[in-house]
Amino acid sequence: MQDHLPEKLPEQLKEKIQQLEQEASQELSSQSFDEQRLEDFRIRYLGRQGKLTQILKDIGALNPHDRPALGQLANTVKVSLTQKVSELAGALKKTQREKTTQETQIDATLPGRPLPRGTLHPLLKTMEDIVALFKCYGFQCAEGPEIESDYYNFEALNIPKNHPARDMQDTFYISEDVVLRTHTSPVQIRVMEKFKPPLRIIVPGTVYRHDADTSHSPMFHQVEGLLVDEKVSFAHLKGILTYFVHELFSKDVKVRFRPSYFPFTEPSAELDISCIFCMGKGCRVCKQSGWLEVAGCGMVHPAVFKAVKYDTEKLSGFAFGMGVERLTMLRYHIDDIRLFYDNDLRFLEQFQ
Ligand SMILES: [Zn+2]
Repeated sequence: MQDHLPEKLPEQLKEKIQQLEQEASQELSSQSFDEQRLEDFRIRYLGRQGKLTQILKDIGALNPHDRPALGQLANTVKVSLTQKVSELAGALKKTQREKTTQETQIDATLPGRPLPRGTLHPLLKTMEDIVALFKCYGFQCAEGPEIESDYYNFEALNIPKNHPARDMQDTFYISEDVVLRTHTSPVQIRVMEKFKPPLRIIVPGTVYRHDADTSHSPMFHQVEGLLVDEKVSFAHLKGILTYFVHELFSKDVKVRFRPSYFPFTEPSAELDISCIFCMGKGCRVCKQSGWLEVAGCGMVHPAVFKAVKYDTEKLSGFAFGMGVERLTMLRYHIDDIRLFYDNDLRFLEQFQ
């Protein structure tokens, strides 16, 4: 028995080697490899715990005279398998390289990729359009601070402390004497303090009031206009605002000036336009009146001129102010003011 086993073993090992070679080459030819599968294959056969490595270990345990022949056979299989694996790995790398080159190669005949184009925010667009229209009449653009003193925001505009008009504007107070400006009108005072008449300014800007619903936002925009000169009359005001309405909307739009009250103008008026949705017949937007309110205006109050030390005998002027949100909503038929501040691209992209 002792002699029988060692003699049988070499035969079994030889068979095992031949079987393994067959199995491995069948596997190599029958399936397609990616890098991971090839590595699995290599480990399974040639790795430290691999099938062929195990056989080589078994050969080491044989009688010395049986070792050379089997060793040689196993080695030939090992060399051939190693070579096949490395050839396959080379081929895989080459395919990968070709794929990458194809992907990165530039085809100069393809049309360029279009870059996404930004647009002006509809409010900014309206504000710029209004300013541009008044520039045609020689108005200059002016701006002022959004954090304003009580004096410029109220007092110099003929709205003293405890004046009921302060209730018309829900003010954000920073301290007792400092506010977020409730209108662009303080810029009138700042400009008149600095410059001598004649003056023509147009003032776009952000203003703040404590108010929020579908047609009010706590932050909104106004454009303010001021003209000061000798012999300025209400007729000039009517003329220039009518021109403005016809340019911004259309020449078919009718205008009407309705008496109103503002502390810093006298007389004061609301500028209405005939409803652009129903052409004056009456609809939901104009609340069946056929008219839409678009601006407040009037002749500069003498008290305002006094505050900036202008000669009230010699000078006169008019001022007007309009809400940019409201005009933009009318222009583009938008019914919710909050759409302007949601930053929803689906909304904003419509204004390209
Ligand atoms: Zn209407």
